[in-house]
Amino acid sequence: MQVHQYDVVIVGAGGAGMRAAIESGQRSRTAVLTKLYPTRSHTGAAQGGMCAALANVEEDNWEWHTFDTIKGGDYLVDQDAAEVMAKEAIDAVLDLEKMGLPFNRTPEGKIDQRRFGGHTRDHGKAPVRRSCYAADRTGHMILQTLYQNCVKHEVEFYNEFYVLDLVMGERDGKRVPAGVIAYELATGELHVFQAKSIVFATGGVGKVFKTTSNAHTLTGDGMGVAWRRGIPLEDMEFFQFHPTGLAGLGILLSEAARGEGAILRNSEGERFMERYAPTIKDLAPRDIVARSMANEVREGRGCGPNKDYVLLDLTHLEPAHIDAKLPDITEFARTYLGVEPYTEPVPVYPTAHYAMGGIPTNIEAEVLADNDTVIPGLYAAGEVACVSVHGSNRLGTNSLLDINVFGKRAGIAAAEYAQTAKFVDLPDNPETFTHDLIEDLRSAEGTERIAPIRKELQETMDANVQVFRTEATLKQALKDIAQLRERYARVSVQDKGKRFNLDLLEGIELGFLLELAEVITVAAMHRKESRGGHFREDFETRDDANFMHHTMAYLDPDADTDGTQGIRLDTKPVIVTRYQPMERKY
Ligand SMILES: Cc1cc2nc3c(=O)[nH]c(=O)nc-3n(C[C@H](O)[C@H](O)[C@H](O)COP(=O)(O)OP(=O)(O)OC[C@H]3O[C@@H](n4cnc5c(N)ncnc54)[C@H](O)[C@@H]3O)c2cc1C
Repeated sequence: MQVHQYDVVIVGAGGAGMRAAIESGQRSRTAVLTKLYPTRSHTGAAQGGMCAALANVEEDNWEWHTFDTIKGGDYLVDQDAAEVMAKEAIDAVLDLEKMGLPFNRTPEGKIDQRRFGGHTRDHGKAPVRRSCYAADRTGHMILQTLYQNCVKHEVEFYNEFYVLDLVMGERDGKRVPAGVIAYELATGELHVFQAKSIVFATGGVGKVFKTTSNAHTLTGDGMGVAWRRGIPLEDMEFFQFHPTGLAGLGILLSEAARGEGAILRNSEGERFMERYAPTIKDLAPRDIVARSMANEVREGRGCGPNKDYVLLDLTHLEPAHIDAKLPDITEFARTYLGVEPYTEPVPVYPTAHYAMGGIPTNIEAEVLADNDTVIPGLYAAGEVACVSVHGSNRLGTNSLLDINVFGKRAGIAAAEYAQTAKFVDLPDNPETFTHDLIEDLRSAEGTERIAPIRKELQETMDANVQVFRTEATLKQALKDIAQLRERYARVSVQDKGKRFNLDLLEGIELGFLLELAEVITVAAMHRKESRGGHFREDFETRDDANFMHHTMAYLDPDADTDGTQGIRLDTKPVIVTRYQPMERKY
């Protein structure tokens, strides 16, 4: 087993991890550990854009952006964090521009901007052009730009290293991180990375659902590792279902399509969003559009042989405009559904997209052990974290922004902390937990297989914890997850080897998925109201009197929440600075 020492270790090489690495790498000895080759991270799949109130094409300011983010998140947003993000958005875009990112331009050479859901002028009066973009490959451009700049700053990457544990130590009576344990895919060896500060930037957990826009690798590893080490998870019940996944597949068609003028229609050809959001229509926030679509289907106005999707109509847009602004996603419609978007509307249905919840942090990206106790030296940023700028529903283009703003903050804070901190002693044999986890799975002789358990987990999550939820569906999901966890205890892998053993790693990832799906569902069960992405048919309205708070979930062996052992739930106040909760109309 090899032991490495770095001032700062960053786990994850997506947008958040690499933005952190650019800062940290210039200030301290930094290593980035990543299970994927950096430019394969999911940030590269992001399509539509990254917002900032640059006001390049029409009047805009960061206060309007702050308000939209808070209202979009149905008032569960921590308002200090939203304000930081909206203010720092402008520099975040300019930083990327200076690093070389080829944004689309206006005729006079400024960064061009387009519309996106929920982003408005003057507190909801009309849609505003706030999203900066590079055609419909914005994330790809961000990831490539950040990677090139990491290389320039000589950041050290450990590619295809799976971090499977966080090792905690003690200093001055406080629990602090001492290092992480990583599994090297190529060799099957374990590595210990001792570090003064550690940044988690491992992305989301979309693979708990079957119909999802998320890549195969988004299995919530960072959340799972932190959870097993007693770090709480915040607001896990809030999962975003993006309105326009390709029907039956879940592959994303960016909201940029509607930003460029596409319209949703039901089987009667009606532009139904006019009924649900009369002011901004198809550009309402995602939770509202997704729910409206699902409702159209329920009420019998769905399209196709099974009446189970609606249509995204781009046929009134000029083909040249489509080619210039939306080349990739229209190609997806041709390739995967055989539909020609110039002349035919595209079948779409909501797809699981984004985890609003995650590892709780403050605005310095420091991880919290409870409602306010900072864990010195431990940071999180990006989709793995909950800061919480997105509250109960994220606005489109606010995630590419979040990863840049809070990734940068995490990188600076982690490097500055490492300048004065000392290494924390590692316990004897720090790798024991991970070693046993792997060897137990490798040597297991059980008859259960990974793929069917994962499939059944995703199916029950789609059936019971999706756009519409009730106590009965959530109970069903919990029952199914409990049975799947039992079966998981008897799982075995077919590949017993050491080199490139993806079978084994999928087994480990399934462990994270099962635990996190349970946290999501228990938290959803306890939120007996509807807010943002969480809609309870048995409690259809937002209930500020009883639920205007974040959910904090803790791993606690003694707890028994609704028959789900080991999860304790608590609450945390929402930080409200300038906008009192109001009725949310669009
Ligand atoms: C199809 C799609 C389109 C999107 N479009 C937009 C958009 O237009 N605008 C917008 O704002 N948002 C968009 N989003 C959301 C946004 O792209 C993501 O939320 C964001 O990019 C997440 O960045 P991240 O750095 O947190 O994580 P990721 O980019 O997912 O990176 C995670 C990193 O963690 C590493 N990792 C994970 N587990 C481990 C482990 N165990 N050990 C070591 N490393 C690990 C991975 O290797 C990877 O490098 C989109 C998302 C999808 C799926």
